[in-house]
Amino acid sequence: MSRQSPFVVEILTAIGLVAAAFILPYVGFSPTTMSRIVVWGLFGVGFDILFGYTGLLSFGQSAFYGTGGMIAAYLLTMVGFPHVLMSIVIGTIVAAVVGYLVGLIALRRTGIYFAMITVAIAEVFYFVEFNPLSAYTGGENGLPGVPTPTLPLGFTTIRFNTDFSLYAFFAFWYFIGIVIALRIIRSPVGAILSAIRDNPLRAAAVGHNIHSYKLTAFVVAAAYAGFAGGLLGVLQGFMPPEAFTFDTSGQLVIQTAIGGAGTLFGPLVGATVWLYLSDFFQNTLHLGATWKLVLGVVFVLLVCFLRRGLIGAIKDLYELATRPRAKKEPKETTPIPGMTAEEEQKAAHIEIARGPAPPLEIAKEPPPPMPARHRAADDFTGPILQATGLTKRYGGLVANSDINFTVNRGELRGIIGPNGAGKTTFFRMLTCEVPPTSGKIVFEGRDITGFDVTEVCQLGLTKSYQVNQLFARLTVRENLTISALAELRGKFRLDMFSRLQNISGLAEQVERTLELVDLTGRADVAVSALAYGEKRRLEVGLALASSPSLLLLDEPLAGLSPRERIEMVKLLRSISQGRTMIVVDHDMDSLLELVERVTVLQEGRVLVEGTPSEIKSNAAVQEAYLGGALAA
Ligand code: ATP
Repeated sequence: MSRQSPFVVEILTAIGLVAAAFILPYVGFSPTTMSRIVVWGLFGVGFDILFGYTGLLSFGQSAFYGTGGMIAAYLLTMVGFPHVLMSIVIGTIVAAVVGYLVGLIALRRTGIYFAMITVAIAEVFYFVEFNPLSAYTGGENGLPGVPTPTLPLGFTTIRFNTDFSLYAFFAFWYFIGIVIALRIIRSPVGAILSAIRDNPLRAAAVGHNIHSYKLTAFVVAAAYAGFAGGLLGVLQGFMPPEAFTFDTSGQLVIQTAIGGAGTLFGPLVGATVWLYLSDFFQNTLHLGATWKLVLGVVFVLLVCFLRRGLIGAIKDLYELATRPRAKKEPKETTPIPGMTAEEEQKAAHIEIARGPAPPLEIAKEPPPPMPARHRAADDFTGPILQATGLTKRYGGLVANSDINFTVNRGELRGIIGPNGAGKTTFFRMLTCEVPPTSGKIVFEGRDITGFDVTEVCQLGLTKSYQVNQLFARLTVRENLTISALAELRGKFRLDMFSRLQNISGLAEQVERTLELVDLTGRADVAVSALAYGEKRRLEVGLALASSPSLLLLDEPLAGLSPRERIEMVKLLRSISQGRTMIVVDHDMDSLLELVERVTVLQEGRVLVEGTPSEIKSNAAVQEAYLGGALAA
């Protein structure tokens, strides 16, 4: 999602690959080692899309590397198919199809279980290659006699049969691989993959079908592996069975970690270091069998001290060198309307404890409200939301019991209740994050009970979270882009080669949301660098950017200083125009001032419902919830 000039990376890559051919031989790299690096680098480009960009650590890439390579080698050596490149492409397609089938199984689990499934699947492929299919794969001997490629030009034929010409052939395909990968990561699909890596729960909640996107990344990685496997056969003149081993998958992970995950070039840099050192330890230092031990120690040191890999370390150094030095200026404070000097002092103390936040522009009028998206269901005239008999049990504990709840279009409703009253659980059921044990939820006339959180967000119902759920490694603008994309593209679209900038209405929607949550000046700052109050506003902005017709806000004032609360209430009032909102919060004063109607929950049930003044004077509320404090 970076805004650098187009094609700079592509041009530098081409220059680097050409320059390497002239420079690397002088520092001890043989042309064959250079070719091996490029093949590993290409294998790693796909893996980096899966691991570095989507956050899925697979130890099973050898299965696709071996499959692509074996299919290509089988066609070329056993079938006698004459076209090297066509065989590699067929191998790539088979690897991608196999990747799709494996992904359907492996992606049913996440984290360590996903990684373990990929290990197991790769072991199955290794066994199948060695045993039942050894007549086709050559078993432990592999498939010898893979020919080198040729390029018929009509008047002459170029033969890639020398070490340098083969390097040129592999470098060309590495370049194509990088161009395609850059296109993918700069596309809407690439942006969503990064969001899934950072926070899959929120990526689903803002309306993206994360399973389909993960499967896409898995298939792309398998295709890259299959193509690189085909090149491996060409490079070695035979297809080695070792391509299928766990060592291959492990080496790929190690090289990516050394070079830097999430950079696309990390695997190439890692392969350069790894292969150079392994050649150096074996052939120059003659370490014998101990070379692996020494290489292992080097790997541990590199990963421990350069946690973002070599490319990450270079980036950090560059940022450090180019970062403008912050000037110390006396902090000016704006008087806050409606806040006493004592409250202001308290706010200042909270801000000091949490680190400096940029001054809030309290006096500024909020921008015009962003209208909710018009959907076909907007013409429905009944209540926007109707929950009937909603109950949620966790084992013996009843978090919500038989709740009947109706909200009309355009209403600004508040929900209050003591800790543990079941407010968050109620919200989670309404947004279909958890299914109710019994009861029914109807949104804009449609029964949404049993839907998932992505589907209801697409229908126009979403929420902001009690604990911030942001995409931590992305900037503020990129966060809002992820949310707006779900509205503009639907829950899944395979526009892997289109540009984010070309999506009509995207930039406007993001800018408008930025303005609304008062983060325009911080748009290109990474989330990790935001002050807490800004993160809270971004949390609301994420929910808002998908233009919901019903917006639920779970404790939007939680953790804010008095100064920030005033700003947030103002923001909430502004965004409630033209949309229906339900707000849960513990800050009674702010909430009762903000909303038109209040529902009080107690012990998982509706205690009472009414206008703020009715609630303030309700004896049951004072007794049960406030213990008389409000009356006092
Ligand atoms: P708070 O104001 O403190 O956020 P709340 O009103 O939002 O509280 P909930 O978080 O909905 O209350 O919790 C209601 C009850 O349900 C609590 O007793 C809580 O421990 C229980 N509960 C909530 N989620 C779960 C869960 N996933 N598993 C088991 N019990 C749960």
